[in-house]
Amino acid sequence: MSEFIKKEKNGVVYYTSPQLAACRRISHAFFTRKGGLSKGPFESLNMRFNCDDARENVLRNHIIGGALVGAEPANIVCTNQKHTDRVRVIKGKYTEFDGQDEGVDALVSDVPGLCLTAYFADCQIVMLFDHKKNVAAIVHAGWRGVQNGIVVKTLDIMREEWGCDPADIFAAVGPSICRSCFETDEDVPRLMEEAYGVFAADYIYKEGEKWHVDLKNITYSSLVRYGVSVINIDMSGICTVCDHEKDLFWSQRRCGDIRGVQGAMIMIKNK
Ligand SMILES: [Zn+2]
Repeated sequence: MSEFIKKEKNGVVYYTSPQLAACRRISHAFFTRKGGLSKGPFESLNMRFNCDDARENVLRNHIIGGALVGAEPANIVCTNQKHTDRVRVIKGKYTEFDGQDEGVDALVSDVPGLCLTAYFADCQIVMLFDHKKNVAAIVHAGWRGVQNGIVVKTLDIMREEWGCDPADIFAAVGPSICRSCFETDEDVPRLMEEAYGVFAADYIYKEGEKWHVDLKNITYSSLVRYGVSVINIDMSGICTVCDHEKDLFWSQRRCGDIRGVQGAMIMIKNK
């Protein structure tokens, strides 16, 4: 397990996972705010369409991000994040599909050149890659995604559709809210206990009147319990809310609703 590495190219500041970077068949990036074209509260690499930012700028920001991982603009495939547990499988040629309106929070594909894209502003982005079957996934998991187990559902689909063995999977959990900043009422811990049983208890604590849930480590231990090797998992220790470089990230908790979102992309390279 390693900390993410901060990089910069053509003004775009982004992070990579050392474990995923060692997989030569893929390219990937967890982007920050830096290096895009948007202005004002969306300055600058905003990838959020449903806001007051100019759509043209958001599209061009996607192209900037795509270029960094080597993707053609037409091959950028996006989630439609609604905190669901819906996983979209893409095999063969990419086509629009019916279920998009209901929300899609994870994408899985074995298609080279397809750039799987998701978004974050406190939520976790989890990237997965099976280096033997050449299957890549990107998962958006906020607390609701942790509760509904979307990471494990994505691993299940990789196993069902491609026969992926967890021992062959690399995983990276991106910059996201830390347990100290994730302050909640008692409803969230209760839902976590319903979802995870006694296993959740190690990741929940109370300070004063408020509860805290360690979402990052619930995800980490879910991966390990599934059979992903500890040494194949990278966890970013960066908190998008309280990290000292606050201007690097939009945070839902810190910035409110008038803000952008960071993108994250993973692509299987064309041979
Ligand atoms: Zn924090």
